[in-house]
Amino acid sequence: MHRSEILMHLGEDREQYFHAVAPPIIQSSNFTFSHLKGFRQAMSDELAHHIYTRGNNPTVAILRQKLAALEGTEDALVLSSGSAAVALAVLSQVQSGDHIVCVRKPYSWTHKLLAHWLPRFGVHTTFVDGTHAAHFEQALRPNTKLIYLESPNSLTFELQDLATVAQIAKAHGIVTAIDNSHCSPIFQQPARFGIDIVIHSGTKYLNGHSDVVNGVICTSRQIIQTIFQNEFMTLGAIISPHDAWLILRGLRTLELRMQRSEASARKVAAFLQEHPRIRQVLHPLMPDFPQYALARKQMSGSGGLFSFLLDVNTLEDAERFFTKLKRFLLAVSWGGYESLILPSAAFYRIPGKPDPPLPFQLVRIYVGLEDPQWLIEDLAQALDNL
Ligand SMILES: *Cc1c(COP(=O)(O)O)cnc(C)c1O
Repeated sequence: MHRSEILMHLGEDREQYFHAVAPPIIQSSNFTFSHLKGFRQAMSDELAHHIYTRGNNPTVAILRQKLAALEGTEDALVLSSGSAAVALAVLSQVQSGDHIVCVRKPYSWTHKLLAHWLPRFGVHTTFVDGTHAAHFEQALRPNTKLIYLESPNSLTFELQDLATVAQIAKAHGIVTAIDNSHCSPIFQQPARFGIDIVIHSGTKYLNGHSDVVNGVICTSRQIIQTIFQNEFMTLGAIISPHDAWLILRGLRTLELRMQRSEASARKVAAFLQEHPRIRQVLHPLMPDFPQYALARKQMSGSGGLFSFLLDVNTLEDAERFFTKLKRFLLAVSWGGYESLILPSAAFYRIPGKPDPPLPFQLVRIYVGLEDPQWLIEDLAQALDNL
């Protein structure tokens, strides 16, 4: 289906709601039945009927259809956060005694789930480098049930070879899952490479306006049914109809926003690469990136996110750079209008915590939707002051 068809029409039944152009917000916790027969029928398949909004809601259902189609999977679930999506997807695939292989340095709360939380329930994870697909195969055990990927990963953007890892997993009867937040379905569709479960922090690009926290799981109808009947209904980490509606509104401009961020980020990266106070730029689609060939193979863009290393020797010098920035906001997250800077230095000298294993010179930048030249001017004046 054409992407425009998905965004304009899929899931939207305008005759049901006065031919309104925009979909309605069905802000209702429960739904009524005129006959016992219909009630019984709904009870036999709650995912396909409207009974209660913890299960299914018409506004959320429109969003689910669009997200699944954008990722090229059969179905999708929308959750209250990206972390809930990660946790439910992982929990759905393992039992006590099982083993997971995960790429090293996944998103921080994914790492906490796998390394510190699941062991309490007898599920253990091996973290592998992952820049070669063989790393995953070497780490498999007879009880491995899940291979978990994040490509590119947060901060340093290492990639995994999706097609090869999917092949290895299939040969061993193991399920694969990926956090695809970085690329969004506009720039990477992991299901096309054989990955089973595609996860998003929809807080980032999918919603795109820095005003809704949400998560998404896109996968086969069968896995969705399993997650729905178990983790989803039990844990209740749902999205509100109003928040789902905001994401539906955000999705209409997803492609446009991704293209703008992508083009602007390349301009900003090119400027930084030439600047004498920048040691290195880490951007998967810049030719000097170590995995550039793989990036070209599986990503059609990289969006607004990349990192760079400041050429400074002390934390104080790095701090001067962040103090001078006027147009970038210092903040976590990304994917909205506003361009953001996330300094590794922010994780240093936190009372009671050891410094992180990241150089303080490392800076993650999100290039949003402002005029890229206006952003470059800001970086230039802050760098020239170093
Ligand atoms: C933000 C983020 C998450 C967590 O999503 P929330 O919506 O904040 O819960 C997971 N993975 C990646 C890569 C992220 O950037």
